[in-house]
Amino acid sequence: MFENLSDRLSGVLDRLTKQGALSEDDVKTALREVRVALLEADVSLPVARAFIKKVQDQATGQAVTKSVTPGQQVVKIVHDALVETLSGEGDPGALKIDNPPAPILMVGLQGSGKTTTTAKLAKRLKEKEGKRVLMASLDVNRPAAMEQLEILGKQIGVDTLPIVKGEDPVAIAKRAKTQASLGGYDVYMLDTAGRLHIDQELIQQAADVRDVANPRETLLVVDGLTGQDAVNVAEEFDDKIGVTGVVLTRMDGDGRGGAALSMRAVTGKPIRFVGLGEKMDAIETFEPERIAGRILG
Ligand code: GDP
Repeated sequence: MFENLSDRLSGVLDRLTKQGALSEDDVKTALREVRVALLEADVSLPVARAFIKKVQDQATGQAVTKSVTPGQQVVKIVHDALVETLSGEGDPGALKIDNPPAPILMVGLQGSGKTTTTAKLAKRLKEKEGKRVLMASLDVNRPAAMEQLEILGKQIGVDTLPIVKGEDPVAIAKRAKTQASLGGYDVYMLDTAGRLHIDQELIQQAADVRDVANPRETLLVVDGLTGQDAVNVAEEFDDKIGVTGVVLTRMDGDGRGGAALSMRAVTGKPIRFVGLGEKMDAIETFEPERIAGRILG
């Protein structure tokens, strides 16, 4: 679908560079192509611009290595800069879950994959770290969502908080906390309600739950295919609720992953996991190199 950036750059750059170093003009020519590649990958325009500027300063004047073509060399410089921008500090997969029972708050828009991700992470914590996990759905407006979490829990062998009709999200969060303490759980995960769009009520509800649960991690689940919208969603949630990381779902689709770069650049929040399908094992720790490769095509 997309032309490979490396080939595209070889076309424009290898003709130009005759000297031993990348001239400013060569780099500019190459970076025009890089900019197109970033925009095609759904990186937002201001982020693409800022990124190009950074790379331009790094690349100009760099000696051309004999073993690679100038085109390949620019691709490498761009790749490394992408990895640097995408990388957060520490291990993205290490959730803060000391001091049991540790609350994890899951937030995001409806349909982003929040409930699925809650169950995937619970399964991971159970199997990889031997943790006892309790999951609770706070989506009181959508009984189907509460049942969905219960069904997933049974499927993966993780307990869910029994559903009590008529309870509000804050009461459910308190009950989850009590049950997690009494039941000797290491972690309890709160799957908050989602809406199709951000609205005040949704944000307020998540903020109220945050205030009673005092979560160790607040993970924002974002559909990786939504591109630039994802950035607005991330900014809004981070601003109002404060998130400790992002999970990008649907990275098994044919999106190019530009949302990852935009979100990281705009919010500064680390991307922690990527969802790679509907199955309960289809989640991986975020790897900057893989997304960088994908953005470059
Ligand atoms: P929620 O409304 O945010 O809780 O979204 P759900 O967890 O119910 O997910 C909505 C749909 O997206 C379901 O059909 C999931 O199976 C699917 N889904 C979730 N994560 C992924 C993913 O990483 N890849 C794919 N292909 N589908 C996903």
